Amino acid sequence: MINFEYIRASSVKAAVEALAKNPTGGFIAGGTNLIDLMKRGVTAPTRLIDINNLPLKQVEETSAGLHIGALAINSEVSANDLVKNNYPLLSMAFAAGASAQLRNMATVGGNMMQKTRCSYFYDTAMPCNKRQPGSGCGALQGHNRMHAIFGASDKCIAVHPSDMCVALAALNATVTVSGAKGERKILFTDFHRLPGDKPELDNTLQKGEIITGVIIPKNTFNKNHYLKIRDRASYAFALISVAAALEVSGDTIKKVSLAMGGVAHKPWRLTEAEKFLVGKTATKENFSKAADLAIKGAKGYGHNNFKLKMAPIAIVEALMIATGIA
Ligand code: SF4
Repeated sequence: MINFEYIRASSVKAAVEALAKNPTGGFIAGGTNLIDLMKRGVTAPTRLIDINNLPLKQVEETSAGLHIGALAINSEVSANDLVKNNYPLLSMAFAAGASAQLRNMATVGGNMMQKTRCSYFYDTAMPCNKRQPGSGCGALQGHNRMHAIFGASDKCIAVHPSDMCVALAALNATVTVSGAKGERKILFTDFHRLPGDKPELDNTLQKGEIITGVIIPKNTFNKNHYLKIRDRASYAFALISVAAALEVSGDTIKKVSLAMGGVAHKPWRLTEAEKFLVGKTATKENFSKAADLAIKGAKGYGHNNFKLKMAPIAIVEALMIATGIA
């Protein structure tokens, strides 16, 4: 760990300016991932800008939908009545993430910014294009049980580790960010990116920008479930997760939104499956057909080939539980 400067910002503007003065610095809020990365020498910011005092902790209904500040604490958002009653998918996803202690520290913005848990990324003795561009990918020919089956490249096959983000992708959320050029909004599904030739870039934030919040549009989903399959019941990242949100009237699916975690460098929307299901009856048979469509193009890398079989089963299971026909 190197010496670094520590300062506190009292406004979004001050935080952005503080980072602009030292581009090799970074923001810190809960620190649940960043401190590990610094201890292991994976990252070495020369200035840490503590943003915990910024007024970004709100969870409130607005005309645009539910507004969650970037510094809202994961466990508090999960337990918030507005979230539990109106966006239960998000509450379920939060509850499935990490451990109680981590959820009590981690923020919404930090959750979005967390790094992959690929073990080669954390081991500075190993090649990793994400940590050190051009050094190679240890996981491609190495231990890749947790890795991607969708959207990977020959440079990186890592997955994004968040549960919250999978639900936010399914709920058509928007991210609000602020930077030297002002504020802008990014569709949640466009926030994280696929590795391509630049696996060192996890998202589409521009240099110097800060996440200020997330907006989830009002929705009419009346059937929701977040299914997470993992190696142990708590404090484990998803082998595969499925966020399923449906609007069902009678037996007919009016609207559906599906996303998966543990399968790609970003939360993975299942758009072909969604298209197939709209207007169909909520039956296991239709869910199975949708799952078959969803996994078209999936590719395993050896140790993670089991995900090719697990993914469609998980999709069907999530839809069955959400609709109550399990
Ligand atoms: Fe690094 Fe990505 Fe390869 Fe993991 S999968 S070793 S993060 S380049």
